[in-house]
Parts: sequence; C-alpha cells; structure tokens
Amino acid sequence: MDEVDVLVVGAGPAGSTVAYELARRGHSVRLIEEHGRVGWPVQCAGLVSSRVIDLAGSDRRVRTRVHGATVFGPGGSQVQFKAPEPRAFVIDRAGLDVDLADRAARAGAVIETGVTYEGRGTADGDREVALLRGPDRTDRTVAARLIVGADGVTSAVARAYRLRRPVEILPAFEAEFPESPGDPDQVEVDLGRQVAPGLFGWWIPDGSGGGRIGVAADADGVPARRYFERLLDRRAARTGRPARNPTAYLVSGIPIGTLPKCAGRRVLLVGDAAAQVKPLSGGGIFTGMRCAMIAAEVADQGLRANDLSAEVLAEYDRRWRSELGPEFSRALYLRRVFRRLTDPELESLVQALASAELTGTIVAFGDIDFPTHLARQLLRESPSLLRLVPKALGAWFAADPASMPDLEPGPRRK
Ligand SMILES: Cc1cc2nc3c(=O)[nH]c(=O)nc-3n(C[C@H](O)[C@H](O)[C@H](O)COP(=O)(O)OP(=O)(O)OC[C@H]3O[C@@H](n4cnc5c(N)ncnc54)[C@H](O)[C@@H]3O)c2cc1C
Repeated sequence: MDEVDVLVVGAGPAGSTVAYELARRGHSVRLIEEHGRVGWPVQCAGLVSSRVIDLAGSDRRVRTRVHGATVFGPGGSQVQFKAPEPRAFVIDRAGLDVDLADRAARAGAVIETGVTYEGRGTADGDREVALLRGPDRTDRTVAARLIVGADGVTSAVARAYRLRRPVEILPAFEAEFPESPGDPDQVEVDLGRQVAPGLFGWWIPDGSGGGRIGVAADADGVPARRYFERLLDRRAARTGRPARNPTAYLVSGIPIGTLPKCAGRRVLLVGDAAAQVKPLSGGGIFTGMRCAMIAAEVADQGLRANDLSAEVLAEYDRRWRSELGPEFSRALYLRRVFRRLTDPELESLVQALASAELTGTIVAFGDIDFPTHLARQLLRESPSLLRLVPKALGAWFAADPASMPDLEPGPRRK
C-alpha cells in the first residue's frame, strides 16, 4: 500500500493551496482529483478580490478588472456605483486552478488526476486508509497520516468522517456567452423573487466582449435553470439584445452556513467541503484559500510533533473561525433578513441606495470579501434602509455576532 504524509482530496483552489503549503514545508503530499483535467469543468463565475491574486502569487489569469456594479431592483429601479480603482478581478478560473496545482507540483506534491476518493478503509496503525478508484476503474488504497477533504460541496471526505454538512445548498446555474452587451468595466446584479429569490442574478464581463450570466437562488424545488431563463428575458428586455449561443453551461450548488466542526482526528476539511463560503454572495475562492493556508499551518505543526489528534487539529477550527467567523455570522444574519424581503421592499432598497450620499458610502466601504462592513455603514447612514429590516437589527450595530438576536426565517413571501 502507498504511504504518504498527507492525502489531499480535490484539486480546486483550496486543495491545491493546502498541497502547496505542506509540500513546500517538506511533507510528502499526494493530491488527487476525480476529473481527468484540473480546472475542468469550470464551476464558477470567476469574480475575485485582489486578495485571491495575492494568495495565488500571480495576476496572469486576470481577464479583466471591474470598477463597480449596477444593481437592478425587481421593479426597474437601478443604482450604479463605480470606484476610480479596480474593485474586483474577473479571472480565467480553470487557468487559476491549473496554476495552483502546478505550483503544488513544483513544491513536490504528487498530483493524480482521474482518481476519486471513495471512502475510508480500516485504519492502519497511525495512518488513515483511503479507498481510491483510478481512471481505469481499478480500486486501490493509500495510507496517509492526515486526510484533507478539499472535495467541494458534496465532500465524500466529510461523509466518510461523519462531519456534518451545511443545512443549505443553493442551486446555481450559469452560462458563458461569447457576445453579451454590458459595461465591460462593471458587473450587474439583479434582485427579485422572479429571477433569484434569496440571492441574486449576475452578469460578469469576460474581458473579450462576452459575459457570464447566472443565478443562485432559494429554488424551493424550482430548477435554477428556470430562474436563469427569466434573468435572460429580463436582461434582453433591458438591453434590447438577447444573449445567444452560450458556449458553456455550469450547474452546481453553493453551500451556505458554517459546519460545527471542520477538523477531527487525522482529518481536516477546507473550502466548499467546509462550507467556507461568503453567505451574502456565494463566493468561496478567497475564503477557501485563506482557510487552506491556516489548515496547512496547523497540519504542519501536528505532522512535525507527530500529533494529529482531534484536539491538536481543532486549532484549525479555532483559527479560521476567529479570522472569518465574525464576518460569516453577520453575513448569515443579514442573509436571513434579506431572504424575507418582498419585491416591493427590494425595490425600495435599490431606490434608497441610489441616493448620492449612499453611493459614496458604497464606493468608500465596498469590499466583496467583507460585505457586512458596508452593510453596517449603510444601515447607520440611512434611516430608510433601517425601516426594511427588523427592529432587532438595530441591536446589531453595537453587538458582537454572538449576541445577535436569533431570527427564524419567517413565512416565505412571493
Ligand atoms: C455558479 C457559481 C459561481 C461562482 N462564482 C464565484 C465567484 O465569482 N467568485 C468566487 O469567489 N466564488 C465563486 N463560486 C464559488 C467557488 O466556485 C467555490 O467556492 C470554490 O470553487 C471552492 O473551491 P474548493 O477548492 O473548495 O472546491 P472546488 O473548486 O469545488 O474543488 C473541489 C475539487 O474536488 C474534486 N472532487 C470532488 N469530489 C472528489 C472525490 N471524491 N475525489 C477526488 N476529487 C474530488 C472536484 O472535481 C473539484 O475539482 C461560484 C460557485 C458557483 C456554483
């Protein structure tokens, strides 16, 4: 049986980051990916902050830079804001995944594609045993001192180790269009129950005249594709030019909500497998990569001390939660409020945001990785926005996340 220090399952941004960080510290690392090619199929709109570019160590996969956004309300109102400097980057997501995996390989990680993690075998002394299936459908095992589950939203590692899954998985549907009208300098966000109940629809320029159009929504049994088609109709009515000839479709799920535990004896979860996704946008590249760095630091210490007990690895949970937990808690709370808004309320929200003072605040405080800072500032500045949220939210201004009032989702509003 093969033996390694660390088996990383899944060569997305989180898995390749852990693999790189541990390989460069001298541990023997195997990184397996179920698909035959790293980066494919693409399951992402590819909009990231400069933090991702920094973590990746290169901007060569940036397709274009985005300075702002236009947000469209369900009733036709809109608000636009633009910053003088780029606020987000549209990347070639498959290219980013390839670069991150290559970086891990250069640091010494062994990458195997077409290999699927199937489950947990009987532990062999101080090693976990992983059951793998190869490209030729042959089964084999590998023994590892540590297993890292970076295997995305449906994580087989989380299932094998009985680490609880997020309660909510938002269905998402996106397509890429080679020609798609829109301001190449900004993204578009569409709100409303008809196109994206509970989250939003988007248009993201691809840097070469086309765009990525998609939705993620509380689908409630309705296929996300239905919402996507409504979004296409809404955009076509607005721009006068229907989006045609999509070159690629993407269907996936976005995990929302944090897991009680992302670490156990000889196992860690990172990225989407750990639901480390921003609850207000569904973006998870920055958060997954950042948590992967923390996971690698904690794992490195455990490997060196030859102590990969649940207690030692729990330090990973403590550290990532202390860094990102307050933002996640506030965002989850705001999301629950947002989900309850009716279309007339969403329309009022967009109208309120359109006031000159607030667009200035959006430009000054907007940060796609930490959106609750902006939300808090907007609520402070605008009494009309405060009217849209429950009274309990007022307490949030001064409160820390732990003391936030517990709001159960109210009855669904159509
Ligand atoms: C429609 C959509 C649009 C999005 N847009 C954005 C965006 O604009 N910006 C942003 O930041 N985030 C976005 N996200 C979220 C982002 O794509 C994820 O958060 C991110 O990919 C998570 O990275 P990861 O490495 O944790 O997991 P993944 O990227 O999902 O990688 C997991 C890898 O594990 C592999 N795998 C799975 N199971 C196994 C197994 N059993 N054995 C071996 N390999 C396995 C998979 O093939 C995959 O390659 C979007 C998501 C969706 C669905």
